Amino acid sequence: MGRHIYVHNPFCARKCPYCGFYSEEGSSRTAEYYRCAEAEARLLAEGDIRDADDGPDTVYFGGGTPSFPDSSLVCGLLKTITESFGIRPGAEITIEINPSSLTKEKAEEYRKAGFNRVSVGVQSLSDDVLRTLGRLHDSQGAIEAIKTLSRAGFTNISADLITGVPGQTMEGVLQDIDRFVTLGVKHVSTYSLTLEEGTAFYARYKDRLEDIVPPEEERAVYHAVRRRLEQNGIIPYEISNSACEGFRSVHNGSYWNGSEYFAIGAGSHGFTNGVRYGHADSIDEYIRVMSGALPGGGLPEGFIYVEEEMTLEDRMAEYPFLRLRTSEGIEADVFEKKFGRDVHEVFGDAIKANVSRGLLEDKDGRIRLTESGLDFADAVIRDFMG
Ligand code: SF4
Repeated sequence: MGRHIYVHNPFCARKCPYCGFYSEEGSSRTAEYYRCAEAEARLLAEGDIRDADDGPDTVYFGGGTPSFPDSSLVCGLLKTITESFGIRPGAEITIEINPSSLTKEKAEEYRKAGFNRVSVGVQSLSDDVLRTLGRLHDSQGAIEAIKTLSRAGFTNISADLITGVPGQTMEGVLQDIDRFVTLGVKHVSTYSLTLEEGTAFYARYKDRLEDIVPPEEERAVYHAVRRRLEQNGIIPYEISNSACEGFRSVHNGSYWNGSEYFAIGAGSHGFTNGVRYGHADSIDEYIRVMSGALPGGGLPEGFIYVEEEMTLEDRMAEYPFLRLRTSEGIEADVFEKKFGRDVHEVFGDAIKANVSRGLLEDKDGRIRLTESGLDFADAVIRDFMG
């Protein structure tokens, strides 16, 4: 089975008012941080049992804003990962890009370094919506970023789109999709705006967002977006993700398959050898701990802050949460192979109840959400979790 590597790049030029991801403003410690991340990559690779043909299938540089720091730091880390782990030829290597920090030179450097997939944080092509979201780029900047990436040789381009933003219209969102298509975008990730506790948006819109954007309106946009994407050959394959044929995200697919993956960097979370682990949400703490890492000296003290051993039972209980998000759903034969149990024997009650409500379909060896089930995914999944 292939493995996967996630790298967290926790630097942003400015914190967006709705963002709940771990990142810090500014770039004062980027050089130290990437040196530490290289040390972590070497340490993880040292402890990894593999042969030369069996390197990871995907590497994903997420954030934060990986395109914000100096590109030589990011590309240097990719080089260290590639050399240490022996990345498979043809592996999917993704970097998240923010239009406000991309330059022609950076795009070319990323391509040369081996990145072959980009995920662009467009969010919207309406200047009003971008202003509401507090983004640093405008619509023209986002369009230019996609063109710059194409000119640099990227053919596998994904764009993020946020819906449910106050002041956004359905017509505007659908126009954004049409524009993505003409720009050659092959993958679209759509997210409904959610209020994360502790963010500026949470304080601003708490108890109010549903009045400004009623849930039924948000759901109507969600389904219209999926239909428009599908009409353009960008086929929904997961609750929030759609892709042209051959352009699904292999990396994200690994999470939904319950595969194991390494995590590098502050605030990152990994899953290897049946253990879930994570690093503290702190650049300073990460640098402090990793500075004590010596080559060949094993993992430094304080390297891991969360550890949860996942038994086969735990993995089986979590599996519907991962698979019901996908268009394939739970495949009965795959489930049996993975866990040695019949999915109907384990989750029979949840399946029966949700099939009778019209929220699930149980057909041809697959259990998956129906079109109306997409609107109640969380409730259906809760039934499976018991
Ligand atoms: S650029 Fe992305 S990661 Fe950074 S604050 Fe904005 S939404 Fe969050």
